[in-house]
Amino acid sequence: MENKIIETKILTTSEHDIKTAAEIIRGGGLAAFPTETVYGLGASAYDEDAAKKIYAAKGRPSDNPLIVHVASAEQIKDVALEIPKSAARVIEKFMPGPITIILKKKDTIPDTVTAGLSTVAVRCPDNGTARSLIEKAGVPIAAPSANLSGKPSPTKAKHVINDMTGRIDAIIDGGSCRVGVESTIVDFSSERPVILRPGGVTYEDLKNAGVDVDIDRHILETIDAKETPKCPGMKYKHYAPNAEVIVVEGEKDAVQSKIKALISENKGKIIGVLTMFGADYDDAVMLSAGDTNRKYAKNLFSALREFDELGAEIVFAEFCERDAYALAVRNRLYKAAAQRVIHV
Ligand code: AMP
Ligand code: MG
Repeated sequence: MENKIIETKILTTSEHDIKTAAEIIRGGGLAAFPTETVYGLGASAYDEDAAKKIYAAKGRPSDNPLIVHVASAEQIKDVALEIPKSAARVIEKFMPGPITIILKKKDTIPDTVTAGLSTVAVRCPDNGTARSLIEKAGVPIAAPSANLSGKPSPTKAKHVINDMTGRIDAIIDGGSCRVGVESTIVDFSSERPVILRPGGVTYEDLKNAGVDVDIDRHILETIDAKETPKCPGMKYKHYAPNAEVIVVEGEKDAVQSKIKALISENKGKIIGVLTMFGADYDDAVMLSAGDTNRKYAKNLFSALREFDELGAEIVFAEFCERDAYALAVRNRLYKAAAQRVIHV
């Protein structure tokens, strides 16, 4: 589909503006909105043509399905054939919240939304603006992250404005996203539930709630282009800033001396350091990831975009496992680094 340049309205989170965005979506248009994870790019999940516009606006490959957002757990029945017991437990414990469940789909959802799969990914966000928008639209909203395909997911309205102005009808500015990485995806469509993507609801959270899940082995690996992963999004290059990202993982002193050595090996280049330990490196632009993995998740995508703006050619990312968000952060960080990880 050809991209025409369209006028993009910048909206607030007022009742009036959410209503405007809801009308755009009901009318077959596209509106970006804040959620607790990242900003979403929404269209009616019942409208095949509107879904096609999402793929065109993002430059998203058509075999990478969209997540369907609902305003309440009740609404899941409108899009899914059945809800297995373990999925019901997840709905009860974690929805609304940063988790997406994969269920067998109903015919109400067109194939374009699910990229031809017989399953549908469903999520109920806990962000008030997002839920109000879905309610007012009166339809479930299909929404991937509101970035250009291949760029880091947007965690602030300005990221969406940079990527999507002229491509979509409206952007609701709802400030910074609380979680900062995309939702946890759990597949309930086959025998045992499997985490396909780690996120704000952690493996430990699920275990503690009595939900017995496996973790897909691809989470910390790059997918071979010939392989068909369960979560089609896994195989695409993601979160890539212009700079070459190298993760240096381990305890503080070892990480810092390694990065110091790497900086001196790369003299003459514009170097960025994403720091957890608050170190002081000469000859590098520093951005803080925060001293916990939870803060790291919130700051990561925004920092990657900022390094681009600063013209960084190489970014060294300090990483140390500190809490249950480690898996979600590693998954994004390793992808951003195209698996260039140095363990010290
Ligand atoms: P995004 O919202 O841009 O993070 O993309 C949505 C993610 O959900 C992608 O990684 C998709 O591959 C994944 N996804 C959506 N629908 C399904 C589905 N039916 N089965 C497996 N993964 C899905
Ligand atoms: Mg995305």
